[in-house]
Amino acid sequence: MDDWACVEKIENNKQVGYWLYNKKPFVVTVTLEVDTNNLKTSATNQRQHIVNQVLQGYQRVKVLELQPINIRRKIWYDESFYWAPGNMLAKHQGDTVYQNPYAQGDYFPIVQGFGGGYSHSGPSRYAVDFAMPIGTAIHAARAGVVIDLIEHHTRGGASRKYAKYANYVVILHDDDTTGEYYHLRKNGVTVAQGVRVIAGQKIGYSGNTGFSSLPHLHFAVYQAMPFGKYQSLPFVFE
Ligand SMILES: [Zn+2]
Repeated sequence: MDDWACVEKIENNKQVGYWLYNKKPFVVTVTLEVDTNNLKTSATNQRQHIVNQVLQGYQRVKVLELQPINIRRKIWYDESFYWAPGNMLAKHQGDTVYQNPYAQGDYFPIVQGFGGGYSHSGPSRYAVDFAMPIGTAIHAARAGVVIDLIEHHTRGGASRKYAKYANYVVILHDDDTTGEYYHLRKNGVTVAQGVRVIAGQKIGYSGNTGFSSLPHLHFAVYQAMPFGKYQSLPFVFE
């Protein structure tokens, strides 16, 4: 996944200005952390600044302006930048009922639910795994816009070292939470980035890529968090 957002920094006459820019048409949550020496803002001369910001599509915002405290001394600054697709201020519509993420009339057993001991802990606590044969049609559990997908991977296995090889689709819901569908087969995505899908629409085919010990679909609803993190949210199926 290439960078969705970036920092733009302009220094002149010993002033340092920071802008944050969203390069995509989809909402993103960014964190800028700047450590400084001999620099202040108009509000404070603390040495560390942390800015958490929600950027709408293509939005560019000036977030920080720093000036020397003592113009005869050297200034120093260094920044870290983090981003996560979605909105840290999203309020999950808790009464939303999610459709099963496969064709109507199909049935697949849940082999790991919320808090499952195998891998559903920490940020992915509220995730559900459906065991299903490779190539099973995956349908959107909820309407939204396809904001991200990967489908070129071929590898998978029962170890976290395979996690980076997962194929997936991410759908941004209207409440700015995301629905994420993982472990799809190679070329297993049938929708394009930027396309709006309705609940029940086919979006791809299941597989066994990434950190996966048997063919299955991992589905969860996530919310972006500061510092590039995210958390899963509890939800109910119909
Ligand atoms: Zn899972």
